[in-house]
Amino acid sequence: MRTLSKSKIMAFRQCPRRVWLEVHRPDLKEDSAATQASYDTGHTVGDLARRLYDRGGDGELIDIDKLGFPAVFDATAEALASRHPIFEAAFTTGDALALADVLLPVGQRQWRMVEVKSSTSVKDAQREDLAIQAHIATKAGVNLKSMALAHIDSSWVYPGDEDYSGLLVEADLTDETKERVGEVQGWIDAAQAIVAGSDMPAIKTGPQCDSPYACGFFEHCASLEPVVEMPIQWLPRFRAQPWIEQGVIDLRNVPLEELNDVQRRVRECTVQGRVHFDAEGAKADLAAHELPAYFLDFETIQFGVPIWAGTRPYQQIPFQYSVHRLDARGHLEHGEFLDLSGRDPSRAFAEQLIADCGDAGPVFVYNAAFEKSRMAELAGRFTDLKEGLEAIIARVIDLLPIARNRYYHPSQKGSWSIKAVLPAVVPELSYEALDGVRNGGDAQEAFLEAIHPQTSAEQRETLRTQLLAYCALDTYAMVRLWQVFAGRTNWRL
Ligand code: SF4
Repeated sequence: MRTLSKSKIMAFRQCPRRVWLEVHRPDLKEDSAATQASYDTGHTVGDLARRLYDRGGDGELIDIDKLGFPAVFDATAEALASRHPIFEAAFTTGDALALADVLLPVGQRQWRMVEVKSSTSVKDAQREDLAIQAHIATKAGVNLKSMALAHIDSSWVYPGDEDYSGLLVEADLTDETKERVGEVQGWIDAAQAIVAGSDMPAIKTGPQCDSPYACGFFEHCASLEPVVEMPIQWLPRFRAQPWIEQGVIDLRNVPLEELNDVQRRVRECTVQGRVHFDAEGAKADLAAHELPAYFLDFETIQFGVPIWAGTRPYQQIPFQYSVHRLDARGHLEHGEFLDLSGRDPSRAFAEQLIADCGDAGPVFVYNAAFEKSRMAELAGRFTDLKEGLEAIIARVIDLLPIARNRYYHPSQKGSWSIKAVLPAVVPELSYEALDGVRNGGDAQEAFLEAIHPQTSAEQRETLRTQLLAYCALDTYAMVRLWQVFAGRTNWRL
C-alpha cells in the first residue's frame, strides 16, 4: 500500500483517473501557466501566513525539503511537545499523509489547525481539503480543538511598508469539518483501490477536468478520445454538457430549434464552410462614430499579495497600453505606455492615457467591460484624474458585439476573441509571427520577469521590445477590423 498525500486524495475527489495518472504517469502532466502562477501565489501566501501567525516569534517550521521523510514526522512530534506554533507539521496514518499549514497551541493539550488558501472565499473543495487534513492529524494523535480556513480578503487595501496584517481572514469550519471527517477514510480507501489497479480508469473528459482545478492531464486524456470534426463546444454560449452526456458531441446533431440565431449561424457556417459577413450592418453600426478615432488596449497584472501600496489583492493593475489614432484622411499615429521600473505604474499610466486619448472621437476597444473597469478603478484611486478618465470611458465603443453580430468565419471555432477573428478578417496579420509575447498570459509573465530585480538590463530591453510589439499589434488589429467593417478597404493602413 502506498501512502497517499492529501493532494493525491484531493485529485481522487476530482477524478479517479487523475489520481491514477498522478501516481503512475506523472510525466504526462502539463500544468498551464495559469496553474503554475496560482501555485506561485499559494507559496507566497503560505510564506506570508507564517509571518502573520508567528506573532510571538517562537514558531517552528518543519522544513520537508531539508528533512525529508521520515524525519519530518519525528521533527513534528518534537515540535508538538514544545507547545509553540508549528508550520508545515507532517502527519501520517500509513495510508495517507498531510502537512498542516498552521497549528496553534490551545491550552495544555489542544491545537487549532488553520489551512491557508490563496483564494478570496472558501470553496467546497477546500472544505474537503480541511476534512482530510483533520482526519489524518486526528488519527495521528493530535487533539484538535478547532479547524479554520484562512483566505485572502479581496477588499483589503495594502497600506505599504510590508504591513500585511488584515490580508488574511479566517472562516471557522470546526463544526462542519467534524461532521465530514467520518467520510474521509472512505475516500482514502477508494483512492487506494484506484491506484492499486494496473489499468487507467476509463473516464471521459468532462466538466471535472476544470473543476475544482484545471487538470494537467487534459491534453493526454483528450488525445485518447476520437477527434470530432465539428465539436459541439464550438456553439457559443451553449450548454453542451447535457448533450455530451447523452452522446451528442457533434454540433450537426443538435436540433436547430435548440439554437439561438448566433448559434445557428455558427452551425451553418461550420457545416457549409462559408463566411458570414453582414457588411452593410457592420457599416451602419460604425457610421455614427466619426473620425478621428482611437483604438485602445490594456495589459494588466495582478498579485494575490499586493506589492504596491493602495492596491487590493488580485486587483487588475494596468501596466501597459497601446493606442492608435486614425484621422479622417486615413492617417494613423501610434502612442504607447509601458512601465518596467517595478514601481506602481498606475498614476503615470492614467496621466499619459488622458493625454494620448485627446478630447474627442470614439475610443474603440475590444470587449469594453475590461478597459472601462480598469479606468473606473484608476479614477477611484486618483480623484484628480477622475474627470479625464471618465471622459474617456464615456467615449468607449466596443468592437466585440459588432464582430459577434456581423462576422463569422469557420476558423473561429465559436470564438470571437480578437486572436480568433483577426486571422480570419485580416489573414496577413498574425500573432504567431510575434517574438516571445503572443497573448495576455505571455505578457504577464514577461512583465513579472522584467520587473524582477535579478533580470539583466539586456533581458529587460528584450522583454520591453516584445511587450511593445504585442500590444501594438492588438490595437493595429482593431484598426484593421474597423477598416473592413467600415468598408474602408481602399485605405492603406
Ligand atoms: S483530464 Fe479530466 S478525465 Fe483526464 S484525468 Fe484529468 S480530470 Fe480526469
